[in-house]
Amino acid sequence: MTMPPVLQIGEFPAAVQTMIGERFALRTLAEVDADDALRARIGAIVTRSNYDIDEALIARLPSLRIVATSGVGFDRIPVAYARERGVVVTNTPDLLNAAVAELTIGLMLALLRRLPMADRFTRSGAWTRGAFPLGSSLAGKRVGIVGMGRIGREIARRLMPFDVSIAYFGRSRQALDFPYFSDVIELAGWSDVLIASCPGGRETRHLIDAAVLDALGPNGMLVNIARGSVVDEAALVTALARNAIAGAALDVFEHEPLADSPLCGFEQVVLSPHIGSATHETRLAMARLMIDNVLAVFETGKGITVVE
Ligand code: NAP
Repeated sequence: MTMPPVLQIGEFPAAVQTMIGERFALRTLAEVDADDALRARIGAIVTRSNYDIDEALIARLPSLRIVATSGVGFDRIPVAYARERGVVVTNTPDLLNAAVAELTIGLMLALLRRLPMADRFTRSGAWTRGAFPLGSSLAGKRVGIVGMGRIGREIARRLMPFDVSIAYFGRSRQALDFPYFSDVIELAGWSDVLIASCPGGRETRHLIDAAVLDALGPNGMLVNIARGSVVDEAALVTALARNAIAGAALDVFEHEPLADSPLCGFEQVVLSPHIGSATHETRLAMARLMIDNVLAVFETGKGITVVE
């Protein structure tokens, strides 16, 4: 079978790029825009979950059969529109649960024990002038999880040995032993640490708003590894400035890459550049599944991990 050319949107890590490049005839958007014959033959789009694929692009590619994203989030792909046009959308769920859960635990501990600040304190010699301020223990804390899905459950499983209490919020109660809250404000009121691990998109936009942050309270901390859109960032900045919450650890932001944000000015904030799944092992596994999805659609018309 002659493989149709594949349009790549966005950048991949070098090892992943090599892997995809060996498998497919990759084309850039500029090449596709400049060549109508090429545009008409594009059979797949490969991308990552932090790039936009819009309806207009899908409409311009008459031979497109699949949009394969490397990542679990698909809030930047018009899934319903693609389906209407017979284009399969696939993602790479589950493979990244461990990496994202590990980062979440790391961010929580970094926040509670002020690790970035402690590192700066030690390097700068400030230690010679006095002791580092006390942090907070994770043991005994109440941790609320907003979105107890594949990643949320892995976070909960990894948290159990830390002797915390866990509860969750979502649209529906699940067959789990953890207490369920049907109201996110009530979960925030119960929680010492609130973790967002739900999908992004219209439905969850600003789910964590000023009222939720108020309920979390002056001793409460927020960890967001979901999507920047889930948190009202302006409300978060206001809450941090007023010490209405104790701190935040954020891997995702309303505008990425983050630059010149007021969030950078707070000592009680730990930031990471959307690296939930960014380990060598995980990104290669995700790339393999993305490739397999494209090949499966080219060969059988059906994807392996199709977004419903
Ligand atoms: P998942 O298995 O689909 O779980 C999502 C959970 O969120 C479910 O428990 C779902 O429960 C809940 N949920 C869905 N819509 C909701 C709504 N409107 N309000 C409240 N809760 C809602 O997804 P996953 O694989 O765990 O991934 C979760 C998200 O993590 C992804 O969508 C992505 O945005 C993010 N993520 C981030 C990184 C990173 O690098 N930081 C990496 C991977 C993924 P109900 O159906 O009961 O509501």
